Amino acid sequence: MRYLGVIVLMVAAALMPPLAAAPSRAVILITLDGARHQEVFGGFDVEVARARLETGQPLEDATAYRRYWAETREERRQKLMPFFWGTLMRHHGSIAGDRSLGSAVSVTNRHWFSYPGYAEILLGRAHDEDINSNEPHRNPYPTVLEFLQTRGGLTASQAAVFASWNVFDAIAEHRAGALTVNAGYEPFESPSPDIARQSRQQSETPTPWDSVRHDAYTFRFAMDHLARYRPRVLYLAFGETDDWAHDGRYDRVLDAYSRFDGYLRELWTWLDSQADYQGRTSLLITTDHGRGRGPADWKDHGSRVAGANETWMAFVSPEMRPRGPWSTHPELHASQAAATLITWFGEDWRTFDAAAAPPVEAVAGQPHPRR
Ligand SMILES: [Zn+2]
Repeated sequence: MRYLGVIVLMVAAALMPPLAAAPSRAVILITLDGARHQEVFGGFDVEVARARLETGQPLEDATAYRRYWAETREERRQKLMPFFWGTLMRHHGSIAGDRSLGSAVSVTNRHWFSYPGYAEILLGRAHDEDINSNEPHRNPYPTVLEFLQTRGGLTASQAAVFASWNVFDAIAEHRAGALTVNAGYEPFESPSPDIARQSRQQSETPTPWDSVRHDAYTFRFAMDHLARYRPRVLYLAFGETDDWAHDGRYDRVLDAYSRFDGYLRELWTWLDSQADYQGRTSLLITTDHGRGRGPADWKDHGSRVAGANETWMAFVSPEMRPRGPWSTHPELHASQAAATLITWFGEDWRTFDAAAAPPVEAVAGQPHPRR
């Protein structure tokens, strides 16, 4: 009788329509290459702007001044990134790294340039000895993106990377083909005629840099992929904030932040309108390194440039309550990004790498957002 009952239950279970699986959590990592905390928290830096102008030209005549200048740093950052500051950080998330409030975020690697910075974010700790150049060498270690893809049982389309810098082909995955990676001037295939046209156009509209395409293409391809394949793990890596700075084009740096703010608005609005993302998606927004602090060295970074280890990190997650800028807390590190993403995804970060830095959530009770 007991066996008959079991068989009846098994038959009943087999005949029932499958329950609609609850959409799983999604995590989105976003980086802005070499984005200084000085601009993120203070907007237009008048000393930097003055230093790059030809002698004699009044600062007030500069387009960037008219576009981004305001009296207070709160007003200036609001002008630079109105959605980020006015909506995202006000109502949905928080950000660490404003050193004037006693909030510091730093990289732990000793190099203070791109590949080691991204590797620290994606691996959960620095590997200073074997990750020490920007050459496109395959990442020697599995990344957090690959870990989440495996643990989440995701297809390569559901764990995707869109990057402006072509070296991300090597950085993002230890095992080539584990993820969807579209980086540099790589063509992007889409059934959308508009996106297919943009894929052809990216090489007809080159930047001044051979290895970095315009962020606009990176964003458009990512949005097309997001809507079509519904990834649960997505990484958007923007590059222009770094490259325009190396070229000394402060006006273009500021415009890159401004455009990024528009991308963020579009991304957030879309996520919020989709049942499988709304309320279950976490965003971590950060940078791979800082830059020099003043008008003499703001263009540069690397271990000899004071301040180039200083970064910032923003969190938008149903898991975290703080809103606005953090103040007065133990220093955070770029290495904590990996474990934070894993925790948001509902997995145990220690099974990724027990020696990785712990998630930022471990101190999530401590921040005191300024009122
Ligand atoms: Zn960089």
